[in-house]
Amino acid sequence: MINKLCIIGVGLIGGSLARALRAGGHVREIVGYSRRLANLQLAADLGVIDYAEVSLAAAVRGADVVVLAVPVGSMADILTELAHLAFDGVITDVGSTKGNVVGAARTALGKRFPFFVPGHPLAGTEHSGVEAAQADLFRGRRVILTPLPETDPQALARVQALWKAVGAEVVEMSVEEHDRLLAASSHLPHMLAYMLVDMLVRRDDHRAVFAASAGGFRDMTRIAASDPVMWRDICLANRVELLAAIKQYRNDLGALVEALERGDGEWLEDTFARAKRAREALNDK
Ligand code: NAP
Repeated sequence: MINKLCIIGVGLIGGSLARALRAGGHVREIVGYSRRLANLQLAADLGVIDYAEVSLAAAVRGADVVVLAVPVGSMADILTELAHLAFDGVITDVGSTKGNVVGAARTALGKRFPFFVPGHPLAGTEHSGVEAAQADLFRGRRVILTPLPETDPQALARVQALWKAVGAEVVEMSVEEHDRLLAASSHLPHMLAYMLVDMLVRRDDHRAVFAASAGGFRDMTRIAASDPVMWRDICLANRVELLAAIKQYRNDLGALVEALERGDGEWLEDTFARAKRAREALNDK
């Protein structure tokens, strides 16, 4: 049981975690903190948090768990502020990139770094803000924790228990592995969706193109409706791994162009068949 949970950034992910812990009876009191009072008021009105604090010091005072759920580009500033505040709780985060967040935590937190447990729930939607928060968002989903050799075992156990309590499967990996895998599985697909929609909308006939679109286009581009600030931050934070993944994709697109120029049906069919088998195997999991 968590006595006082402090959510910093009560949006889709922070709000969903609050709702999930509340629904399961795992928390006594939830306080929210973010920049805009209107957002916090809405979170309180929706019953996602019990009350809002406009001072970070007041928000974390007496908290046994503090969850950072702000865009990854804002984590360093919050961690720096947290370092000067008096509280004993465990700090964790939900950021989509781990290298920059862990680096910022190490620099900012000093002696308290062992009580920071880096995390990333593999769950979300293209919607943002507390209105989109759902109590069951993490049920049956994976959460990656990237503990460091210095991480305090009890702090790690507390964060593992928190995610298991909301129905998630907890896995662990290194920071580097996380950022390399997520560049390929999440960050690259978001780039492709954004760039595809942006390319099409700049065509003179884009209205006709969109009117002629069907399920395939919608499936492929749903995530292009995701929050631009969040994705700007993810790109910048993981740009080395993301660049490697984009360049690999660009090479493969080059091979596709060459196959089309050659009229090479065998190449096309073999490539599509390999992808179809891999995609179907994913459905079975
Ligand atoms: P969101 O719905 O936009 O919520 C972000 C929240 O952070 C807002 O409540 C915002 O409120 C607050 N905030 C932003 N900058 C802040 C700052 N400098 N100081 C204090 N509060 C600040 O975003 P989200 O989708 O929940 O994403 C939150 C984190 O989860 C990100 O790190 C993201 O990478 C990660 N994540 C997202 C997904 C996903 O699918 N969306 C999945 C897994 C992980 P104010 O505007 O009032 O400050």
